[in-house]
Amino acid sequence: MKPFENFLANLDRASTVMTLPPAHKAALQTPEAIHTTEIEIPLTAGGTQTVPAYRVQHNSARGPYKGGIRFHPLADADEVKTLASLMTLKCAVVNIPLGGGKGGVTVDPKQLDEAEIEALSRAYFRWGTEAGIFSVDKDIPAPDVYTNPQIMSYMLDEHEKVIGHSSPGVITGKPIELGGSLGRSYATSQGGVFVLQQYLATQGQTLADVTIAVQGYGNAGAEFARIVSQLGGKIVAVSDSRGGLQCGNAGCDIPTMTQRKQAHGSLKGYYCPEDQCDTAKLAADDVRVISNEELIGLDVDVLVLAALDGAVNETNAHTVRAKVVLELANGPVTVEADTVLEANGCDVLPDILANAGGVTVSYMEWVQNRSGDRWAEDTVNAKLKTIMDQAFTDVKSTAEHYQTSYRMGAFALSMARTLKAMQLRGRV
Ligand code: NAD
Repeated sequence: MKPFENFLANLDRASTVMTLPPAHKAALQTPEAIHTTEIEIPLTAGGTQTVPAYRVQHNSARGPYKGGIRFHPLADADEVKTLASLMTLKCAVVNIPLGGGKGGVTVDPKQLDEAEIEALSRAYFRWGTEAGIFSVDKDIPAPDVYTNPQIMSYMLDEHEKVIGHSSPGVITGKPIELGGSLGRSYATSQGGVFVLQQYLATQGQTLADVTIAVQGYGNAGAEFARIVSQLGGKIVAVSDSRGGLQCGNAGCDIPTMTQRKQAHGSLKGYYCPEDQCDTAKLAADDVRVISNEELIGLDVDVLVLAALDGAVNETNAHTVRAKVVLELANGPVTVEADTVLEANGCDVLPDILANAGGVTVSYMEWVQNRSGDRWAEDTVNAKLKTIMDQAFTDVKSTAEHYQTSYRMGAFALSMARTLKAMQLRGRV
């Protein structure tokens, strides 16, 4: 099932749980605007490359549109539409006064040099500014797949050139020097840790009582592992696109693994530089090389999914032995897999709750930019904890009210909050 179909299936299920009238469901499915254009990138070698670009503005009933911009060869209107819809719900789950949007450019950024990336970033944002799509009170983008703080800097600069004055709040995920927020770089993972801690508390447990496997060791997964291990939690397996490592009884030494991944290009690169693995090194560290499929089926308490959408699906859901799955990635558990996990008594802490820490600190960056204030890192993290803890409590009580899963609880809560705002505005 494609991500957009997956989203619609979840919306359908939640509408049934809530007994929503069809007109309300349709109102939540339909984006307010889909903007498309073609961008011409001047190439360093001469000539130009023309690429399709999108901005989807899904829903603004609760506040300005908020959502990242991705540069990816597979980005298309359907994908951007799905992600924009999820942003509406994500902002509503954590109850921040923002709506949902998303942008994308169908391009392989690995084929472009820095000058070409800069030209593309400026052209995209010039289009969005001149077309009246982006502004500080209307639509506020952020980084997403293959975009980063440097790209946000080019975009901000282009925006301010066009409008003729400073407006740092038009985009978030900026470098600290240009008004970025402290705590933003690891906010998604920190938010996920707060959600997991709240969930474990409902089971009478803390991080010290559980074993955790993490699929995906990029920004979200590696930062999650770092924070958990600093808090005394036990990560027993990790993986990236090249494969995984399972650690012995002592758990994984996360700082060492992160250093070695940086030095050798992958988690297992230190042990297996070529096709052959060094058994002496593996034995010395009490580490075993495993596949990604093995990681998903490990006998652990918590499985953290921080890599791809559809990672747990109808073919492998029956292998999951964890008692709880934390979705740090967007859409890593399919609708079909949800049914299998639920039947097997495994709770899924859904993406629109579990990874909402990123957009929550983006919201704080926007607030700081608009007030001209700068908050200390501790202040940001304390505010993030308050917001994530409340969101967990709200999702849990909604799920209990409807006697349904955490995912359906998060959907029902955010759909109800969005519909209420639409009703008050007379839109439904
Ligand atoms: P990233 O590119 O930094 O990391 C992705 C990681 O997944 C890499 O380590 C990669 O090797 C690994 N990976 C790829 N294929 C894999 C496979 N088959 N098995 C195991 N690992 C595999 O990306 P990221 O920023 O960490 O984002 C990961 C997910 O989290 C995405 O779905 C993203 O949309 C979501 N997310 C991230 C943020 C954020 O702030 N970074 C916020 C919200 C959601």
